[in-house]
Amino acid sequence: MISKKMYELGSKSSIIRELFMYGRQKAAEIGEENVYDFSLGSPSVPPPETVTNTLSDLLQRDNVHGYTPAAGHPSVRESIAKSINKRFGMKADPNRIYMTCGAAASLTCTIKALTVAGDEWIVLAPFFPEYKCFVESVGASIVVSQPNPDTMDIDFEDLEKCFSSKTKGLIINSPNNPSGFVYSEDTIKSLGAMLKDKSKENGHPIYLITDEPYREIVYGDVSVPYVPHYYQNTIVCYSYSKSFSLAGERIGYIYVSDGVEEGDQVFLAVCGAGRSMGFVCAPSIFQYVVSECVDTEIDISVYKENRDILYKELSAMGYHCIMPEGAFYLFVKTLDQDAEKFCEYAKTKYNLLLVPSNSFYVEGYMRISYCVKKDMILRSLKAFKQLALDFT
Ligand code: PLP
Repeated sequence: MISKKMYELGSKSSIIRELFMYGRQKAAEIGEENVYDFSLGSPSVPPPETVTNTLSDLLQRDNVHGYTPAAGHPSVRESIAKSINKRFGMKADPNRIYMTCGAAASLTCTIKALTVAGDEWIVLAPFFPEYKCFVESVGASIVVSQPNPDTMDIDFEDLEKCFSSKTKGLIINSPNNPSGFVYSEDTIKSLGAMLKDKSKENGHPIYLITDEPYREIVYGDVSVPYVPHYYQNTIVCYSYSKSFSLAGERIGYIYVSDGVEEGDQVFLAVCGAGRSMGFVCAPSIFQYVVSECVDTEIDISVYKENRDILYKELSAMGYHCIMPEGAFYLFVKTLDQDAEKFCEYAKTKYNLLLVPSNSFYVEGYMRISYCVKKDMILRSLKAFKQLALDFT
């Protein structure tokens, strides 16, 4: 007898993974140059030079491969806390930082730490589909709030309806995967005010998890509000997967922010959750790497160029695109309301691999990951054009 729930999770792969595998197989059959794979969100630029240099240097040092304390090396937690304080004006205590294997582990540990069976977590569509799996795995359920359908901003009227006496918290992700949308300061302020009221009504804190792997990937003068300034009971889930292009190395952190009620207990529950799932002692050498490179600025010009080409060219072809202010995804209205059907057509007819928005719990859009080679984008434009013509 095995766990039916785990079996189900393991036997179904995500549509994104399926598309990617399809692309690999198709490329082997018809040539790499004839497949336009926009499925995965895996960074296409190398890590910053300081990161690779620090890694090479660390490899020459002694004592870098051993266990660290479960929550991470004290010096690493200290340098991350210092950086949070310098960059965001917080008073982060290193004892509230827990090093993790990327954002997925940050989220699973935080959700597990806070949840009791029967709780509800509100998630704001469009959202990273793994949230459902993380929440349901601890006996809770998700309640989905739909966004403003044209902008992907929060629809506060819809959100209001999602609260109940079982609400444990809310998960946000800005810059957003899949829409590239960035919540403004006004939006975050309104959200904070709503959560404060709801916590009062419910008689217990409603937690806000802010999932921020794309924080540094923003274009122009867009700024990403630092959420703990606007709502006290905020837990930050961060990862270096995207900003430092270290997705395969699995490194990130949880910050139980300064104002969280009974924050020390919450932090210990995070430690307990990490322990119960074996998420202890995040990869040591990458703890040291991120610690030494913590304030390294990243170059996002490649993503910006890709974004600008796709936005301009697709808009000219008649596609309605949401101009992404951050991350490396373009969210585009499908030319058939049935996004799955539209993306399937694009896949089989033109080898254009696009992710239907149903995967992210909204209808009528597709996600184009533009963390790809510019050359592939340029080659794909003919296929996008033909696809548009087939639906007009
Ligand atoms: N959250 C969001 C919104 C993501 O897009 C991703 C990865 O694509 C993750 C979490 C997981 O990130 P990590 O690879 O750091 O676990």
